[in-house]
Amino acid sequence: MRPDPVSRRLLRGAGRRPLVLMYHATPAGGRGARWALPLRRFVAHLELLRGEGWRTVTVSELLARGLRGERTVAITFDDGFADNLAAAEALEARGMRATWFVVTGRLGEKARWAGAEDGRLMTAAEVRRLHEAGHEVGSHTRTHAALDALAGPALEEEVAGSRRELEDLLGAPVAAFAYPYGRVSEAAARAVRAAGYRAAVTCRGGAVRPGTDPLALPRLEVDGACGAGRLARMMALAAAPGSWMAVLSYLGRRALHRLAVAA
Ligand SMILES: [Zn+2]
Repeated sequence: MRPDPVSRRLLRGAGRRPLVLMYHATPAGGRGARWALPLRRFVAHLELLRGEGWRTVTVSELLARGLRGERTVAITFDDGFADNLAAAEALEARGMRATWFVVTGRLGEKARWAGAEDGRLMTAAEVRRLHEAGHEVGSHTRTHAALDALAGPALEEEVAGSRRELEDLLGAPVAAFAYPYGRVSEAAARAVRAAGYRAAVTCRGGAVRPGTDPLALPRLEVDGACGAGRLARMMALAAAPGSWMAVLSYLGRRALHRLAVAA
């Protein structure tokens, strides 16, 4: 499962700006569904990152570092699937940390919102365990509502209400938020700010820059078919959109070298 040398080489040139990765379920087996990444692929991602000298930070740590850092990646999980507990163990075994965004009104239930992958969500005790192990836990609303369709008290309940619930559960301040479906409206962004969150993640791609709005951080979506090679290429492309020219030039030089050797 080691990625090809070209992908590795690309990733090596991609570490100037921090990146935020978005994962969902990490089932123990299977071939991967739209957003469900088999655990063995997730572990291959961790091995790639560790092997290339990338450091993992939580979303709040990224903010505390002024959204800067070389070879720095924030691994995030949306929804809080119970199968992520094995992913947490894989992270901990490597001294790595991640951020989980949980749906506070659905803990311990099956994910039933539109477009959800199959699977049980973590219980309150399991979420607390992540927090106690040093991971960050943030909010992903109370019911996984599309916030651009809400206003007034309903919006406030999803955004501020879920923060209160999570703070009661963890006994600690909650600083990070993830927009369900990545859907943001002006009212939703205002509600997130007013609720006291210091960082919020979207589904818009790209790298994090020092001037990026911390309440609209970009993330790279990792789908269920993403092997380590594709992850490396995706990170390289996000970090430096021009890097594909470097790939082409590298491949071109290699082809010329082979021709020269053959001649
Ligand atoms: Zn979600």
